[in-house]
Amino acid sequence: MDEIRKQELEQENLSYRKELQNRKRIVVKIGSSSLLHKTTQRLNYYQIDHLARELSDLKNQGKDVVLVSSGAAAAGREALGIDLDIYRQETRMNIKQACAAVGQARLIEIYQKFFSEYNQASAQVLMTKLTVADGESCRNLINTFEELLSLNVIPVVNENDSVATDEFLVGDNDNLSAMVSSVIHADLLILLSDVDGLYTDDPRSNRNARFIDYVPKMTDHLMEFGKSSTGSGAGTGGMSTKLHAGRIATASGCDMVIANADLGLKIIHDIMAGENIGTLFRADRDPDFHLSDYIF
Ligand code: GLU
Repeated sequence: MDEIRKQELEQENLSYRKELQNRKRIVVKIGSSSLLHKTTQRLNYYQIDHLARELSDLKNQGKDVVLVSSGAAAAGREALGIDLDIYRQETRMNIKQACAAVGQARLIEIYQKFFSEYNQASAQVLMTKLTVADGESCRNLINTFEELLSLNVIPVVNENDSVATDEFLVGDNDNLSAMVSSVIHADLLILLSDVDGLYTDDPRSNRNARFIDYVPKMTDHLMEFGKSSTGSGAGTGGMSTKLHAGRIATASGCDMVIANADLGLKIIHDIMAGENIGTLFRADRDPDFHLSDYIF
């Protein structure tokens, strides 16, 4: 790319970032690895508390806020002291679903506790791919979101892992959060995980990988930068699921930012203030957008 075009893009990025403060409906997704202590794989209460504070503050600025939180399976494993590796492959799915059932309840209890510290009501919404694929349940889902948001509640969303079968499992919350963003017409999706954003290659294995802070348009070439590893082992998403989520979000008319929650959750505040953090994927609404084209 020539120098002039590079400078134009840098300028475009910086001025577009300033517009993020005007976004009205924001979906924040946090990955399992960002909710656990790296050394013990136990819940990081400091991080969850800080997340609740940042999101409650966004609410107080008059924004609609939806949280998509992973961590159910991890919280369940922690609660039951389960090491999945000792189970045979055939029984692992059942154990995982049982862990998710225990962990989801625990996670919501913790969120409710921290949100109430900030005088903020929260709710649980569990869904699968089927929920958006079926017209009637999708309408129900949208109505529930709209009602909760008009009541100033923060919905806390996760996949219904304990009942989802492979066929209808989204499998990762990157895509799930993009699906949620599209059905509720969110204008900003923030994906928080343990990576800084998009690189031309995996920076953990290639020291020459270049960081990309601004994506004005999703292209096939860009999709090749996706790698399916998180480096943490706690979650299921990698860069490829984030890029796929980016396709859904941007085509539905929603901006998306990938940022590193390990830098602390003030990062949400900084992104909203227009700072050049993480990778920004600019909304690029497709007039023929249909969610079903992206999820099956
Ligand atoms: N739904 C899964 C959980 O709560 C997480 C999926 C993901 O890691 O993206 O454990």
